[in-house]
Amino acid sequence: MASESFNPFKMAQQQFDAVAEKLGLDQATRDFLRTPCREYHFNIPIRMDDGSYKVYRGFRVQHSDARGPAKGGIRFHPQETIDTVKALAMWMTWKTAVVDIPLGGGKGGVICDPHNLSMREQEAICRGWVRQIARNVGPLQDVPAPDVMTTGQHMLWMLDEYETITGFKSPGFITGKPIGMGGSLARPEATGYGAIFTLREALKEKGIDIGKTTASFQGFGNVSQFAIDLYTQYGGKAIAVSSWDQKEQKSFTFRRKSGIDMKELLGITNRFGEIDRIKAVELGFEVLPGEDWIDQEVDILVPAALENQVNAQTAPQIHSSVKFIVEGANGPTTPEADEIIKKKNIWMIPDFLANAGGVTCSYFEQVQCNMNFFWTKEEVLTRLDNKMTEAYHATSELAQKRNVYMRDAAYMISISRVAEAVKMRGWV
Ligand code: NAD
Repeated sequence: MASESFNPFKMAQQQFDAVAEKLGLDQATRDFLRTPCREYHFNIPIRMDDGSYKVYRGFRVQHSDARGPAKGGIRFHPQETIDTVKALAMWMTWKTAVVDIPLGGGKGGVICDPHNLSMREQEAICRGWVRQIARNVGPLQDVPAPDVMTTGQHMLWMLDEYETITGFKSPGFITGKPIGMGGSLARPEATGYGAIFTLREALKEKGIDIGKTTASFQGFGNVSQFAIDLYTQYGGKAIAVSSWDQKEQKSFTFRRKSGIDMKELLGITNRFGEIDRIKAVELGFEVLPGEDWIDQEVDILVPAALENQVNAQTAPQIHSSVKFIVEGANGPTTPEADEIIKKKNIWMIPDFLANAGGVTCSYFEQVQCNMNFFWTKEEVLTRLDNKMTEAYHATSELAQKRNVYMRDAAYMISISRVAEAVKMRGWV
């Protein structure tokens, strides 16, 4: 989230500017791509369960639709800001480009806290969000999806409202829908599994046996849960995971050196990905301060919670044993931390590559909805694996050939693709 000292949009622009310079992009293309094409801010008035009225602030940002309809999630968060949404929309543009799917980048959000809202109130916010923006989104314009604290249920309410307004069935309007209601099998797994597909390839490339590695994760939500699931299926040992504690208003790290059993940990985790501390102790976990996920003696770190978690203050604490960082979250690492990570010689799998599995599967969901024919879970995961593996190797090859940092290599691929689309359309 944006704060006085951290602005994710400035960070996204800083990352873009550095690569635009490396690529020698002309000024007009830089000006065009370093800001969003369109942004919408609006009020969502809601009648609460107690009969009172409250007004929530909603956003939708379309950073680029040069390569296809804008695409990106909608986040419900009490600290949501327009600058966070703008940064996330920009990163979506690079993400869809790096995995080479025919979509652009967008993002949305509402400043609200689902912890304190009934399901009816959340439904009203979803429907209100769509009513404000229905003219400017849609399967051929801009396709939303779930993000932090939004789920398939929220997507279905939004779809229902959109179809009510337009009078047509438009399952391609939104992705991340529940299975059986237009959702794709394997969408829940897609982001976490996608991240581990890229990690598997990186380890293979470096000649390291995944079965002999250990990892620490930040966050225990959708991305992290499935990342841990596949990583441990491959034989890796996850020893630490951190999660937010709503009551204490801070995070905690849960460590068990003998390894985490994903299913067991899920049993003591609520729907927001928050782990019960008392039950964790009963299961033999040590409960450590939230920030301790980063200084564990492991081979792999997977930040999969929020932005700005690996920064100038925390990056120096990364243990010398760490060889890989796989960014499950969007924007977890600041440019200052990148410099520290480079010096530590850690192999970085950057966010918009590592977590592109979600949007890739969302694209598959759209394709299946358009065909009105749904694939098996195996088929979805095989296609996802192929896309992620291909994107990882293209990035890694460029990084090695040009001797650049992995994040820069991924940016070089994405920005070149989007700049080319913008040029071919004759926009700049
Ligand atoms: P989620 O809401 O399911 O889970 C978030 C997790 O982070 C929860 O376990 C929560 O307890 C934890 N958390 C929150 N604040 C924390 C803190 N300060 N310290 C430690 N843990 C904290 O969200 P998600 O869908 O798993 O998304 C996580 C990240 O991945 C976000 O950056 C999101 O934008 C990104 N992402 C998600 C997807 C997707 O498909 N879900 C796709 C691409 C990127």
